[in-house]
Amino acid sequence: MVKPKIGIFGLTGCAGEQIMILNCEDQLIDILGAIDIRYFPTAMTKNDEECELDIAFVEGAVVQPKDEELLKKIRQRSKLLIAIGTCAVWGGLPAMRNDVPREEFLEKVYGTKGKSFKSIPAQPLKNFVKVDLSISGCPIEKEQFLKAVASLLHGDLPLLPSYAVCTECKMNEYVCMLVGENKLCLGPITIAGCGARCPGYNIPCHGCRGPVDEANVASEVKILKEKGFTLRDIENRLRSFAAQAEILQEQFKKE
Ligand code: SF4
Ligand code: SF4
Repeated sequence: MVKPKIGIFGLTGCAGEQIMILNCEDQLIDILGAIDIRYFPTAMTKNDEECELDIAFVEGAVVQPKDEELLKKIRQRSKLLIAIGTCAVWGGLPAMRNDVPREEFLEKVYGTKGKSFKSIPAQPLKNFVKVDLSISGCPIEKEQFLKAVASLLHGDLPLLPSYAVCTECKMNEYVCMLVGENKLCLGPITIAGCGARCPGYNIPCHGCRGPVDEANVASEVKILKEKGFTLRDIENRLRSFAAQAEILQEQFKKE
């Protein structure tokens, strides 16, 4: 059987998804037996810069012109392009800075040298190219990556959760931090897949996986306000990981 040719790419980000893939230690030998990795500079010294790929996994946000250039080149050479990680899917943490004037931000961080850096507002991959599948998470869950690889090898796209973190929280019978402890939990509007990890450690969900489809953001904001949180607290939390998500942008416009 011809093995599918795979590329694993990083734009601007922390490389957390690539580390998570390398962290699939128990399954890595089996994965390497089933696919032909042609590009993965975080893990390999010899990388094919030109060959056609069956699947490209791309992490990181587009925050500079060279990210956009590389992303478009990846799209051209790949049959399927899969966004991995919240930066690639939603703009992630880098998009928090989009509201600060660019020059002011660059000067604050890099001093006078900042003026020479080419920087654009941080954006998800889908703003530039067609994305065939999104796997969010900061970082991604390794089980979701393995599930995606297994499905893709059979010619299918994986079925990922389409419900909110609260559902996983209830399935685990965790105490509700929002209702029971008045904590600013974004579980009701965040896409599941992590097993409600944070509430399991008595920490409210910060929304690191980005919003669930059809999230009722207005209702979440109303409940949080009733519990005494200021709009600033709520917006800061909502903007942390997915400031570029349309569903959240709509809410920011309303307030
Ligand atoms: S703790 Fe958070 S994630 Fe769990 S049920 Fe309550 S609101 Fe939902
Ligand atoms: S509970 Fe929320 S913040 Fe924690 S890992 Fe899951 S999605 Fe991310």
